[in-house]
Amino acid sequence: MTPFSYRCTDCGRSFSRDEVRYLCPECGKAYRPGIPLVGVLEVVFDYAVIGRAFDRARPDWNLFCPVEKEFHPPIQVGNTPLSRVDRLADGLGLPSLWVKNDGLNPSGSLKDRASFLVVAEARRLGMDLIVAASTGNAASALAAVCAATDIKALIFVPETAPKAKLVQMVLCGATVVPIQGTYDDAFTLSLEFTDQRGGLNRNTAYHPLTIEGKKTVGLEIWAQLGFQVPDAILVSVGDGVIIGGVHKAFVDLQRAGLIDRLPRLIGVQAETSDAIHRYVETGQYSDAPNPTTRADSISVTCPSNAHGARRAILESRGLTLTVTDEEILDAQSLLAARTGIFTEPAGAAALAGLVKLQASPNRLATSGPVILLATGHGLKDVEAPLSRISIPPAVAPVLAALAL
Ligand SMILES: [Zn+2]
Repeated sequence: MTPFSYRCTDCGRSFSRDEVRYLCPECGKAYRPGIPLVGVLEVVFDYAVIGRAFDRARPDWNLFCPVEKEFHPPIQVGNTPLSRVDRLADGLGLPSLWVKNDGLNPSGSLKDRASFLVVAEARRLGMDLIVAASTGNAASALAAVCAATDIKALIFVPETAPKAKLVQMVLCGATVVPIQGTYDDAFTLSLEFTDQRGGLNRNTAYHPLTIEGKKTVGLEIWAQLGFQVPDAILVSVGDGVIIGGVHKAFVDLQRAGLIDRLPRLIGVQAETSDAIHRYVETGQYSDAPNPTTRADSISVTCPSNAHGARRAILESRGLTLTVTDEEILDAQSLLAARTGIFTEPAGAAALAGLVKLQASPNRLATSGPVILLATGHGLKDVEAPLSRISIPPAVAPVLAALAL
């Protein structure tokens, strides 16, 4: 493992590995539930070590990992397919369009990557309980990864979380507590729980290794493109941690001298859950007071990683845009029909954003690789698309009955 320290993304102070656990001890004092996190910690490696040791012929990804391999949970996470999708690209004017299908992780979402690393850290620390708040996917991911170990998962979810996700958590043996309230309420309660009753808090961005875990998707994209930096990556944005993780991957590669530019990050939010979009556009943060989107995984009033997501987008010369639920569900159908990849509404928001972008004056005009990140599997929430399709009635099993 490469030596590393934590650095506060606000004040720049550095801390050794076991000196801190969650937020910067100084800046974190200004944090209170209900505002975006402040004092989020970033892992800073000894990049000279990575630059010297990394070998493209035999890539050792543990060089980029802040928890020793011996503590990694025994479950396969990541290494999901990156597929070139020419049938989808045709109508969008992009000759090299790809989908990274992270719905093929064990619990069906990219969030397995964050849970994998936090569970590894809990094993290193000898802790036996991990606590999380989640709209569904992070909790399912935590439950699944914990199930491969002796660690217990305690999960607070808004009562509106889709059934399939709740089923996953319960079957994987987690203790599930639905909350009469929003994701933000569940988040606050989970912080109070770990403060007062113990356990390791896995909340996204609050625990710095969630961003490190999600970063692995960016490292894989680079390797799967033959160690090439894509021109742009489109990411659905809720709390802003996935886009922060994707950015960190390329920042690490650049700091290690392995690449010389960053991909543009294009963040797509649902129209009613647009706090980060407005923050990027105006420089002023305010909550999204009524996030009613059907894309539950990106439905957030107060994005925990709003500051980090904004930085990632600006540093990468990227942009943000918003899409309606109608556009998201259209994109979900389009992706399935043109690629065979069935992603949940939140994952389809990235494509909805690309469709909208390509019809605008800001359209991407590049022949280089453009990546759509499909963050979760469509089977996690079939209710939303079910409202728009009809399943044909059954007919007698004789040829004469077929209206074909
Ligand atoms: Zn600080």
